[in-house]
Amino acid sequence: MIYLKQNVEDYNNDFRAMIQAFLPNEKIVITEEGTRLTFEAECREQTVTLRLWEHGNRIDEETVSCDYRDKRHAKNPIKAAAYHLLSRYCKKTLPWGGMTGVRPTKFATARLEEGWDADAIIHEYETVYLTTKQKAQLCYQVAKREQELLEPFHFTEEYCLYVGIPFCLSRCLYCSFTAYPIERYRDRIGEYLLALFHEMEFVAQACRQKRLVAIYMGGGTPTSLSTSQLADVIDTVYRLFDTRYVREFTVEAGRPDSLSREMFEMLRAKPVTRISINPQTMNDETLAFIGRHHTSQMITDAFHMARDCGLDNINMDMIVGLPKEDISHVRHTLEEIQKLGPDSLTVHSLAIKRAAELNMRMQQYQESMRGSTNEMLTLADSFASEMGMQPYYLYRQKNITGNLENVGYARPGKECLYNVLIMEEKMDIIAVGAGTATKLTFPEYHRIERVENVKNVEEYMLRVDEMIARKCAGFRWADERNTMQQ
Ligand code: SF4
Repeated sequence: MIYLKQNVEDYNNDFRAMIQAFLPNEKIVITEEGTRLTFEAECREQTVTLRLWEHGNRIDEETVSCDYRDKRHAKNPIKAAAYHLLSRYCKKTLPWGGMTGVRPTKFATARLEEGWDADAIIHEYETVYLTTKQKAQLCYQVAKREQELLEPFHFTEEYCLYVGIPFCLSRCLYCSFTAYPIERYRDRIGEYLLALFHEMEFVAQACRQKRLVAIYMGGGTPTSLSTSQLADVIDTVYRLFDTRYVREFTVEAGRPDSLSREMFEMLRAKPVTRISINPQTMNDETLAFIGRHHTSQMITDAFHMARDCGLDNINMDMIVGLPKEDISHVRHTLEEIQKLGPDSLTVHSLAIKRAAELNMRMQQYQESMRGSTNEMLTLADSFASEMGMQPYYLYRQKNITGNLENVGYARPGKECLYNVLIMEEKMDIIAVGAGTATKLTFPEYHRIERVENVKNVEEYMLRVDEMIARKCAGFRWADERNTMQQ
């Protein structure tokens, strides 16, 4: 346990994130009792002093000359000081240096908009945020590609639709999504779809002044529905919404145990433009351990079948940092993926969220962690490059292994625009279904308003009108805000 002692709370989140990044297994507490280490932050008008105490003895300190109330100027030096202090204590450096946020590319994006060149942007990442050159270059590359991809959009006049199908075949150990066992709900899927269509109907009407540009169907695993049920969902989207401006329609076909030729033929016949078949790993032992009831051969077969059926934009997701896996397992996964030749590859660093079963088995998991996750990410980066892919979106999550990142790579023209749009937070994402969250954006105010649906499927079916009322209130609030701005 670490005692976080501070005279003001202005940098509370930053200190917590930094401590967690260096000491991920330590709990941060706000009383000294029973703690071994104290991280003290004393913020004054002219100086900020950070100290580390162990068993009551001061062991190190860093002082920054700044006015802590001037967050705009003080934040980065204070975070850098916390980084140096913890880096000396833990005798290690972090690839992302003092960066703790979920969107590390946002600084590169802002600098590109100001006309900075690559060298200046990379230099800023290395010197101000203390990242490695490799991460700085990655941010620059992603920001540059995002800028090109977002160029054709008119953010305030357009929106994306997210359709949540919260069912899956079995629960993965690391899963924190809204994913209920399909077998338990087989008899009630029709009821769920009716509620979903009812909510869609409202959204289609409420958003008719804007252009729908991207549709994403996720969950759960949408293909855990029967082929005819999923076809019905797709047809209903096309019946209710004006889809003339849709540039992309992704369906998560994540689990091979949910896929069949019939399903692929249906997806091919509909206006679906992109699917995702997600191995996570191509090592059978790991697949069994993480609770995925399928083999790597089933992934290979599903992929070939999808290609045979004419699906020409297939993503594959993989995770690095999985229990019991070292770099040789990751290399094997990448070699197998390379043989298949997907159009895009999304590489996740394992994030263990509170809701995941893996979190409960953390102790066991720690013992099976092998090797450097950052090396695994670097390996994935080089395989992606060999497959002709470029990184185009990047984000980090809380509780991500090694404080690292998730990166989307794609062959030119095969990127998922929805992923970029949701990451950039410049366009409204309207989400329907249990466990989904609508994001209304106010770029002028640098603000996002979330309107959440209940997670529980039964609650959702019962309270769908309340979900609609929540959205209605959110839309009204957004309209008033936009009118005020004009
Ligand atoms: S396949 Fe995805 S949604 Fe289904 S349980 Fe695994 S992580 Fe969760």
